[in-house]
Amino acid sequence: MLKIAWTESYVLPLPPNHRFPMSKYEVLPEQLLHEGTIQSKNIFHPAPLGEEWILQTHDRDYWIKLSTLALTPQEVRRAGFPLTNELVQREIVIANGTVQCALYALQFGIAMNIAGGTHHAFTNRGEGFCLLNDIAIAANYLLHQKLVNRILVVDLDVHQGNGTAQIFQGDSSVFTFSMHGAHNYPLIKERSDLDIGLPDYTQDNFYLSVLDANLKNLIDQVQPDFIFYQCGVDILDTDKLGRLSVSREGCKQRDRLVLGAAKENKIPIVASMGGGYSIDFRDIIEAHANTFRLAQEIFF
Ligand SMILES: [Zn+2]
Repeated sequence: MLKIAWTESYVLPLPPNHRFPMSKYEVLPEQLLHEGTIQSKNIFHPAPLGEEWILQTHDRDYWIKLSTLALTPQEVRRAGFPLTNELVQREIVIANGTVQCALYALQFGIAMNIAGGTHHAFTNRGEGFCLLNDIAIAANYLLHQKLVNRILVVDLDVHQGNGTAQIFQGDSSVFTFSMHGAHNYPLIKERSDLDIGLPDYTQDNFYLSVLDANLKNLIDQVQPDFIFYQCGVDILDTDKLGRLSVSREGCKQRDRLVLGAAKENKIPIVASMGGGYSIDFRDIIEAHANTFRLAQEIFF
């Protein structure tokens, strides 16, 4: 069964006119239920993650400052959300969503989080709407529990997975792969194990052929026994922040390549949603919904 992490606190109340499209976390599960892609039994409601698991990935000082709402105004600005207890709760529930998804993926082959992919969170700071790195936390959880040996992170959000790259720098059990817009935020990029920076206005054919070749190589070379997939949809040509020109169909083909490779090679995979800032909200929902539709089609 396709297990999906979601709970009400994923939807953080934001000030009016805040630039983050928070309502996608509310509308996407409604859409998936409404159209019959999933039923309510597919959804599970994660509890907040225990502090010990946060500290496997993040510095204690940073976690204390975050959880006691003591980040500096500059740090709060960089993160992009008002710093409240609700925000901290949301982050630790989402992080546990990805941890629990990882356990479900070992059982069912795949599981998905309707949030997360917070790849701009570093060991000691947050930025770009990311405070805790859910993928890194879940990867460290699996490794610590000796459930897997070698993890591949496939980060296809239009923005580089800079936090994830920093967290796993020098860690040979996690291979970080980020394919992103070369001229997109972050301006100064970290070094992933493999970075592919794409030129502005990259279209479907080029995007998909580069991805396909690299994915095959990585599965051969890295021999991962687990994959985390950051499936941000800000690669779309309709995106306000992205600089690429991938169509909605191209984005769906991208998901098919990644999910198909995991299924074909029998590698458990967890998808965390990542970014999406299309001008028309329906473009965001449709592109994210496609990832879930494909998961059902390919795996079940
Ligand atoms: Zn992004």
